[in-house]
Amino acid sequence: MAQTVRGRFAPSPTGLAHLGNAWSFLLAWLAARQAGGEILLRMEDLDLERCSPVYMQLLMSDMRWLGLDWDEGPTPERELAAYHQSNRFPLYEEALQMLVSRGLAYPCFCSRKDVRSMASAPHVGDAGAAYPGTCRGLHPAEAARRIAKGERFSWRFRSTDRVYRFADGLYGLQERALADCGGDFSLRRSDGVFSYQLAVSVDDALMGVTQVVRGRDILPSTPRQLALLDALGLEAPSYVHIPLLLDAEGERLAKRHASLSLRSLRDLGVSPWRVVGLLARAAGLCDRLEEVHPRDLVHSFQISTMPPADYKLSDNDMAWLTGRGEERGKHH
Ligand code: GLU
Repeated sequence: MAQTVRGRFAPSPTGLAHLGNAWSFLLAWLAARQAGGEILLRMEDLDLERCSPVYMQLLMSDMRWLGLDWDEGPTPERELAAYHQSNRFPLYEEALQMLVSRGLAYPCFCSRKDVRSMASAPHVGDAGAAYPGTCRGLHPAEAARRIAKGERFSWRFRSTDRVYRFADGLYGLQERALADCGGDFSLRRSDGVFSYQLAVSVDDALMGVTQVVRGRDILPSTPRQLALLDALGLEAPSYVHIPLLLDAEGERLAKRHASLSLRSLRDLGVSPWRVVGLLARAAGLCDRLEEVHPRDLVHSFQISTMPPADYKLSDNDMAWLTGRGEERGKHH
């Protein structure tokens, strides 16, 4: 029997959800639903100082408002600790220890400032400057001595020159070595916060996720996650990276775009079906701007035929979304 597709939403609740989040959620939801699969919601609240339970509540309510549901995970009415990364540290610790015991992780004493100043010189991949490997060759006895002395240290993955290959569901075959994606990446910061790469790899595997749909800005992370999954003996999901939604100036939507938060659109009285309609148009699922319910898009959805270019929201799109366009029409 074919495996059931299990997708996921994995937001970081550090601000109000915006159109960009709705876009990723909608596409992940459609990909799972179209395959008759399930979708789970996981809160990526690793960095407790930046995340807030209020944003989590608002995000869940905003997703529901758009007509997007999920089969597993917390809901606005019910907390589910196991779907919050902040409650899963023992699992990440176990994975880290396994890597350490296999010689695949090493302590690094470089401060962030050190890494930044070293960064201008050597290899610069598309994940930013690669870590030059300063602490990679430290003798274990020397590292143990510095740790015993109380020096702060992070843990890094010991990369090899292996090339990781995967067939992206939209962008096709991808081949990258870790040297092109940041080199020996961090597994745990010196303040004890586990890295996104470690947590997401462990969680996707342990939660049985088979299909990851996420922004193409995360593409350089995928080889790192494949490396971790392989090192931990865990199965990798399939990956579909999706184009980004950009503002009228061509900038990626971010939490600072307050006017594009779902909350402010709701406050303006914008219909959720209009939001979905705009996103569907941007994804090439409708040939004109019209109100639509996510359910109505499931049947014909095919992620592989989506236009792969980023979508820039035009003034016309925004006018349609907020009803300004029509109002102008009415008055003249
Ligand atoms: N938590 C990440 C974000 O909100 C998404 C990570 C992922 O999809 O792998 O950007």
